[in-house]
Amino acid sequence: MKSLNREQFSTLLKVQRITTRLTRELRFVPEIIDSWDELEMLAVPTRSNKEGLLLLQPDAFYAFPYELTTNLADRATGRSKPITCDFCYTWQQGGKAGRITFRRKTDDHTLTYLCCSDLRCSLHVRDKTTEARLSRTQLHEDITTEQRIARLKDKLHILISALDLQPIQTF
Ligand SMILES: [Zn+2]
Repeated sequence: MKSLNREQFSTLLKVQRITTRLTRELRFVPEIIDSWDELEMLAVPTRSNKEGLLLLQPDAFYAFPYELTTNLADRATGRSKPITCDFCYTWQQGGKAGRITFRRKTDDHTLTYLCCSDLRCSLHVRDKTTEARLSRTQLHEDITTEQRIARLKDKLHILISALDLQPIQTF
């Protein structure tokens, strides 16, 4: 992903017509990002972490607001249950399992996916997290890191077309 500084991020929010309320609440901290070139997706959360702006760059650049539910519990038992992320295919324990929801602009339809609650899928596919290492012991796949990255990009392309997103030309 192309790196963004604070000024570019605030331009992006204007270009994308992100609401004033969400703009005010987003916590964009570019200093904590080590390697932008290893990111296909980056979630910029609000302080509450219940919503945010998802930046995507599998090739072109996209940005779209989301809502996030974390710590998924089974309705019947009340226990948190593990999931496999719909984007990066990482197995996550209930406490680190999330559900992300997007509202498509064209028809107001909502789309929901299971996800890593930290939304650090680009790091998980590159085996850079403890969650990734745990996942490898749960899901045995004969697949290389490059193939995992390619699969994540494919999933993001599917998401982008499901949401009818248009690439942002400014970036
Ligand atoms: Zn994931």
